Amino acid sequence: MKSLLLLLAITLTASAQTEKPLASFPYTPGLDLTSMDKTADPCVDFYQYSCGGWKKNNPIPADRPSWSVYGKLSQDNQQFLWGILYQLSSQASGRNANQQKIGDYFGACMDEAAVKQLGARPLRPYLDQIAAMQSTKDLPALLAGMHTSLQTGGLFFNFGSHQDYENSQNVIAFADAGGLGLPDRDYYIKTDENSVDLRNKYLIHVQKMFELLGDKPGVAKAEAAKVMEIETALAKASLTRVQRRDPYQRFHKVDFKGLQAMTPDFDWSIYITDIGLPAQNTFNVTEPAFYAELDKQLKALNLDDIKTYLRWHTASAAAPYLSDDFVNENFNFFSKTLRGVPQLRPRWKRCVNLVDDQLGEALGQEFVARAFSPELKQKTSLMTSQIEHSMEEDINTLDWMSPATKQQAVAKLHVIVNKIGYPDKWRDYSSVEIKPNDFFGNVQRAATFESKRDLNKIGKPLDRGEWGMTPPTVNAYFSQQMNDINFPAGVLQPPLYDPKMDDAPNYGDTGATIGHELTHAFDDRGRQFDAHGNLKDWWTRDDAKNFTDRAQCIVDQYAQYTVVDDIKINSALTEGEDIADLGGLLLAWMAWKDQTRNMNRESRDGLSPEQRFFVGNAQWACENDRPENLRVRHHRSALTGQVPRKRTGGEYG
Ligand SMILES: [Zn+2]
Repeated sequence: MKSLLLLLAITLTASAQTEKPLASFPYTPGLDLTSMDKTADPCVDFYQYSCGGWKKNNPIPADRPSWSVYGKLSQDNQQFLWGILYQLSSQASGRNANQQKIGDYFGACMDEAAVKQLGARPLRPYLDQIAAMQSTKDLPALLAGMHTSLQTGGLFFNFGSHQDYENSQNVIAFADAGGLGLPDRDYYIKTDENSVDLRNKYLIHVQKMFELLGDKPGVAKAEAAKVMEIETALAKASLTRVQRRDPYQRFHKVDFKGLQAMTPDFDWSIYITDIGLPAQNTFNVTEPAFYAELDKQLKALNLDDIKTYLRWHTASAAAPYLSDDFVNENFNFFSKTLRGVPQLRPRWKRCVNLVDDQLGEALGQEFVARAFSPELKQKTSLMTSQIEHSMEEDINTLDWMSPATKQQAVAKLHVIVNKIGYPDKWRDYSSVEIKPNDFFGNVQRAATFESKRDLNKIGKPLDRGEWGMTPPTVNAYFSQQMNDINFPAGVLQPPLYDPKMDDAPNYGDTGATIGHELTHAFDDRGRQFDAHGNLKDWWTRDDAKNFTDRAQCIVDQYAQYTVVDDIKINSALTEGEDIADLGGLLLAWMAWKDQTRNMNRESRDGLSPEQRFFVGNAQWACENDRPENLRVRHHRSALTGQVPRKRTGGEYG
């Protein structure tokens, strides 16, 4: 008994110690011997050998679906950002305009008592609007307002700006699928025991949310069933995640008449005017079958059913910003049930994430000033150009690719833009009003700013300097259409990039990440875009066949690996990531050999330089996972390498 109490006391102290705003960035060494398991045979299980110690020393925190080197660094970043925001929120004077915004936003978010007192009241204007609907003809105006200020993809469909697939210089309107509450179509369709069970739990969750809006249990239950019916119909008409990887399947350009003809029961001219756009005549309808089904639904549903559907999605989208009852119910389903996370993240974490999500470059500017020195930028930029040089060498020596395709590939490589650390030009937030005592209003105004910013790009010259991730983000991406690779300052920190370490683990780790993103330019999807970022086939037929034959080997190999229980990797979905991982490692190896050609490569800690390279590479991926989360991740493609669409939601992102 005594020892249990003692253990509890130690645990509390430990968590109290880690959970405080940090004034300086914590240091974790790049190659960590304590993360290894030297009892494992590296020739049998290299992952256990490199990461066994890490896995043992780093159990999954209760508020996380998984835990990894990346996740831990994200948490360090978060605590450091907390320190910045805590200071700015309590500082009364001497703040510049951006510092006022992020400080006051954070302060209002942290004021839990005020949020609690408001209860569901912030939802009232939305619910009143829904109640006042006279017919489905009111839907376009209503959706325009909600899409803009709630930024939810949950309301029937998604609409935003995107580079034209066939001319990347042009930004056009994309009408995308949407309308689902569960993560994707498979959740509504699969008939295995797990999926059926999850759908039953989803129904209960939707019912509870209606009850929180004040509906009687019997009524709420019927409403939840109706929501499920509508979402299931939309899901059945949606592409699978694998199909969505194919840009040709998502490219159906139409003029205004064409768009209107797809959904005669939805007046697009009202919607477009109300989201603040001038008349448009170019649209990409990513999934025409989805819009055909949407129109069918709008015809078939009575007004009350539509109102039911809208009330659910409004409550669900706003839940994270409301009082505890909403926050907890939302967490219980989307995090606990769906991903196996036992515990809601503390409020400070959710608030830091929200600032990053909604005012990310204002916060990022503060982060960069404190944690990303010009030397670090210079060193990682050099590594990037070395990796690019390796890729050119690699392309030129391929025995299966013709000179014609090689020339095109190298031309594409030469114009890839390297974005390292942070944008050259910071986003201008001057038009966003942030008030010290208005959390929900701040969320709405920042969401509206982001929606308008996104929509305003339509019909304007492309801004090549734009970033799709904020500077503190511990992730990286390649954009096919921008033809750029992006490494936020957050991902170029120890232990991933450690200026105090020898070259070997740094090239094995960060070098391979740079190589990974670069390889995306030539993976199954990236290779379909040319040097201008246009969806255009530049491969000879033989070379394309040679590529797909080789890529198929990777697909076949990864299909044999088990994710959890009886679930194998869906390697048709992860193909791009798997190609990028292997390609990235190869390029990093070549670049490291080049970099250290004339140096005396030294052994350290009982490991040869080559061993240090590979252990460094393995250690970026040390990870512990909950089985539930592995199931969700099996459905959704890996996070890295995808240009994220900025959306608020979840339990604060
Ligand atoms: Zn990737």
